Amino acid sequence: MNPTFDPDSWSPEATATMETISTASQGSALLTTVNLAYIIAAILFIFGLKLLSSARTAPRGNMISAAGMLLAVTVTLLDQQILSYTALAIGVVLGAAIGAVAAYKVRMTGMPEMVALFNGFGGMASLLVGWSEWHFLAGLPALAMTQPLAFSQSVIALAVLIGGITFTGSLMAFLKLSGRITGRAVVFRGQKLLNLAVAAVILGAIVAYVLTGQSGAAYPVFIGLLILALTLGVLGVLPIGGGDMPVVIALLNSLSGLAAAAAGFAISNTVLIVAGCLVGASGLILTVIMCKAMNRSLGNVLFSGFGSTASSGTKGAVQGEMKPIGCQDLYYVLEAANRVVFIPGYGMAVAQAQHLVRELGEILEHNCTEVCYAIHPVAGRMPGHMNVLLAEADVPYEQLMEMEPINAAMEQTDVAVVIGANDVVNPAASDDPTSPIYGMPIINAHQAKTVICLKRGQGAGFSGLQNELFFRENTRMYYGDAKSSIQNLVSEFKES
Ligand code: NDP
Repeated sequence: MNPTFDPDSWSPEATATMETISTASQGSALLTTVNLAYIIAAILFIFGLKLLSSARTAPRGNMISAAGMLLAVTVTLLDQQILSYTALAIGVVLGAAIGAVAAYKVRMTGMPEMVALFNGFGGMASLLVGWSEWHFLAGLPALAMTQPLAFSQSVIALAVLIGGITFTGSLMAFLKLSGRITGRAVVFRGQKLLNLAVAAVILGAIVAYVLTGQSGAAYPVFIGLLILALTLGVLGVLPIGGGDMPVVIALLNSLSGLAAAAAGFAISNTVLIVAGCLVGASGLILTVIMCKAMNRSLGNVLFSGFGSTASSGTKGAVQGEMKPIGCQDLYYVLEAANRVVFIPGYGMAVAQAQHLVRELGEILEHNCTEVCYAIHPVAGRMPGHMNVLLAEADVPYEQLMEMEPINAAMEQTDVAVVIGANDVVNPAASDDPTSPIYGMPIINAHQAKTVICLKRGQGAGFSGLQNELFFRENTRMYYGDAKSSIQNLVSEFKES
């Protein structure tokens, strides 16, 4: 039987109880909505990441992941645990404006520096979340804590530690890559010992912080940990330089994700944990792929000081003469070739020659020449740099070939045209055990019947090493800026 409602018997206490129940049920409905939206955001991240694996679908993947992030941020604001929406709106508008201008203005060759900076900002954001959580936790009565204090302190310490290392490490990478400080590895006596000592003190500080509890006495320890984390970022990247920088950027990217995941645990935010883990895992996978591409172990990259004055020495000085070739002679060589492989590198990005390279490729194809493009994983200055440039120039994706299949076909290639590449075609990597890059897989351009190298002059590659390929019997140097050199060649074909 249904009880009948009698308004006279309704007390103020009962009204208050009903209001509490209704607020609680509204709160739980909101929580369900937020969590549902987080699941959708996580699916969008994963789907976006999947699409990033191919140059053709990557722009769509980017948009989908960005939509996921917008959804995650928007629903996070719904629970209204925010001090001021105005401050937040100003932050969003300012951040979006700076990001848009930076993305619009940056040249393709400056992308790695920008990525390094963005990684650094991600690390700093996690550090700040950890720091503010310290203050929040300090003012919270023990009964109001939703997770064990030691756990909260551990994840706060991790967010600050990894975030701090990522911030200063990324700034160092930015300064090195942009040439504001030396790009070489800086090594000094006792460096490894110093780094080890700092790491040991950090470990001690974390244990001391967790054991002291969230009291005022723990604050100096916490601030000490923060300063040491920032110091370790600088010290860790200092001995890394030259061709190892791409690996460091991928690793810092992974660390920025792990810092975000730790911050997510600190503030119990599911989507931050998911997004952080995705970035952390994908960054780590990329790091491993890059290490493999350079035939180095991660430990060797981080601690060997490759590219320092000490390790590069004078080895690799090459005797002989570089033989130039003119535009008209090169026209005859290419015109007679059955199979041509283009090997693009950093110089093609500098010259922005990709559109003309595609045009030359099409002309050769009309001339019944088989054309393809050999892509080295670390050519250029960022992972996938050449794929992005050639996709932008509408080079058919099927013509892009990875290192292994193209090397297998190199001996049957009539002409290998090296466009502003240097380190990635340096035969010393396979022939000279004394070379600092010995063991790094390269594109075997030297095995082609004729090798044409486009570069402006005698400039060395990123590693600073001399390249013996330019002195070989079957190599001819076609000097000049890659864009104007190819423009001349295209004109020569059109006139003929
Ligand atoms: P390199 O940096 O080895 O060589 C580039 C060559 O391009 C130089 O020798 C230069 O010679 C020539 N060049 C520069 N500008 C022009 C121009 N306008 N026209 C024609 N030629 C030009 O490039 P690679 O791509 O072969 O190798 C990449 C290197 O960068 C590797 O060592 C890699 O480890 C490193 N790296 C890679 C990153 C990545 O993620 N891909 C990130 C950071 C570093 P000249 O001055 O005579 O013209």
